[in-house]
Amino acid sequence: MKANYLCPNCRTCLNIGDQIIISAKNEEGKKGILLLSIFLGDYEIKKHSSFDLEENEKLDMYCPCCFESLRNPMVHDNIFKILMQDEEDQEHEILFSGIYGERCTYQIRDKKVSTFGQDAGKYLNYTNLINMS
Ligand SMILES: [Zn+2]
Repeated sequence: MKANYLCPNCRTCLNIGDQIIISAKNEEGKKGILLLSIFLGDYEIKKHSSFDLEENEKLDMYCPCCFESLRNPMVHDNIFKILMQDEEDQEHEILFSGIYGERCTYQIRDKKVSTFGQDAGKYLNYTNLINMS
């Protein structure tokens, strides 16, 4: 599927090729670039070997263009949001966990939620997830 992913703040396209480029910061405050897969449910993350991340580490994530935080605390403090435009130009909200190693993604449009990842159940109790769009 050919989709584009946008920053919800400045609406810059964040994907190049099959990857989404995100600025990140680890718990120690060290900064790095993450490459996420454009394919929902694919949790391969590419990063430079000098950017150390531990399993279950809480990340901060930012737009690489406007540097606005992508965190969506209205849903949960661990949840981040970007926008997706599908091939029919329909816009979806993509929510995903900022816990490194946690496999959890929600695709939301018209209050319908599709879930991806084995940890997706973790935040589904948060009723805000449905109400946020
Ligand atoms: Zn931005």
